Amino acid sequence: MAPKVLVLGGGIGGVEAAFALCHKCFDVELISDRDYLYIYPISIWIPTHEYEWEDVILPLEKVAEVNGFKLTIGKVEKISTKEKKVYLADGTVKEYDYLVIALGGTKVRHKGSENFLSICGKPEESLELRKRIDELIERGGGVIAAGFGGNPKDPTGVRGGPAFEFIFNLDCYFKKKGIRDKFQLHFFAPMPKPGIRLGEKNAERAYKMLDKLGVKRHFGRKIVEFKPDGILFEGDYFLKSDLTMFIPATDGHLVFRNSDLPLNEAGFVKIESSCAVPGTDETVWAIGDSAAFEGPKWKAKQGHIAEVMARIVARNLKNKIDGNPERESYIHHLHILCLMDMGPCWMSGALVFRDDKRSIMLPLPFIGHSLKKLWGWYYKSSKLKRVPRIPGFDAP
Ligand SMILES: Cc1cc2nc3c(=O)[nH]c(=O)nc-3n(C[C@H](O)[C@H](O)[C@H](O)COP(=O)(O)OP(=O)(O)OC[C@H]3O[C@@H](n4cnc5c(N)ncnc54)[C@H](O)[C@@H]3O)c2cc1C
Repeated sequence: MAPKVLVLGGGIGGVEAAFALCHKCFDVELISDRDYLYIYPISIWIPTHEYEWEDVILPLEKVAEVNGFKLTIGKVEKISTKEKKVYLADGTVKEYDYLVIALGGTKVRHKGSENFLSICGKPEESLELRKRIDELIERGGGVIAAGFGGNPKDPTGVRGGPAFEFIFNLDCYFKKKGIRDKFQLHFFAPMPKPGIRLGEKNAERAYKMLDKLGVKRHFGRKIVEFKPDGILFEGDYFLKSDLTMFIPATDGHLVFRNSDLPLNEAGFVKIESSCAVPGTDETVWAIGDSAAFEGPKWKAKQGHIAEVMARIVARNLKNKIDGNPERESYIHHLHILCLMDMGPCWMSGALVFRDDKRSIMLPLPFIGHSLKKLWGWYYKSSKLKRVPRIPGFDAP
């Protein structure tokens, strides 16, 4: 009988792991608290009406059916690696031979978090953002602030790209409607050089773009509290805003604190370079946003890295079963790759790349936006096996 692998989490990493493990003939069951995969990279277009909810989700039942894994909808509450059991909120207990943890993370807490909406939070928040933007348009305009925060305990959880994408898309949306002059757009972050992980030159290019579009920058000010009418920064600096979109940095998932897993300071699951969780004799593996990354200083949690890790786990696990001592490392696959979307205007996107040697931002006027859309179509179609997979064409 094929060994049973339990995959926790139906996001980008979990679904890829389930797919790759099925391919290696394991008996795979995926557990997710949502019955759909939310494709975060293309959800940036919901607030500007470019995409509907249905465009950015993949029903997991369909994905499971075409790829041959079992799906259970349930909320994981606790993992016991000693017992080799996973406890669900409805009282169900799942046993496994091998476990792949891909539950993503939680968000760093901020005072007044009820006063902002996040494009990276609960999927429904993107619809709420859209509603609030529509209301401001109806009111004849307003002030919108977008920003992102840090995680001093683990900077890999900082997610700034979608905040830039959000404000670029808004600018373009308002311009197309002929109402850009009715809105003041602001961009804020507590670090003096937000986005520096992309490389100094790339970050400077992004700031120049903000300046060019008339988006006012507020950098290097520590956030004290989010208020209903704006953001209070250190030094009594108050930024008035009718709508605040904020991306708190990612922190370790709360389930991990309730489990017997080795965690780093931020609560991410410690892993070896093979993605195996230390001390579990390679029975437990962790990938994507759930894992504590080692490697270069600029490393970042990204969807395409979650997918690479998922495939590495499938190969390493197969080697373990076959008695082959070879293990592949995720560390030399680490790089930053993102198709930064700027909306359907003339300067519609840029390809951003960062590794140890290079930091490149390649402008993609007119085609960048369509390329990201094409990736979204490919992602959905390939997961449903409607088109063949293109090796290396991972998350944008
Ligand atoms: C707006 C946005 C834009 C982005 N753009 C890009 C981009 O352009 N390129 C790129 O490479 N990356 C991008 N990213 C990052 C990328 O989306 C993440 O790195 C990736 O989703 C991580 O995958 P994951 O599977 O580790 O976690 P997730 O995608 O967060 O998946 C975790 C899954 O676990 C499930 N889950 C959580 N808790 C439980 C529980 N207790 N029980 C059961 N199930 C649970 C969740 O429902 C979810 O399905 C973006 C992220 C955001 C938010």
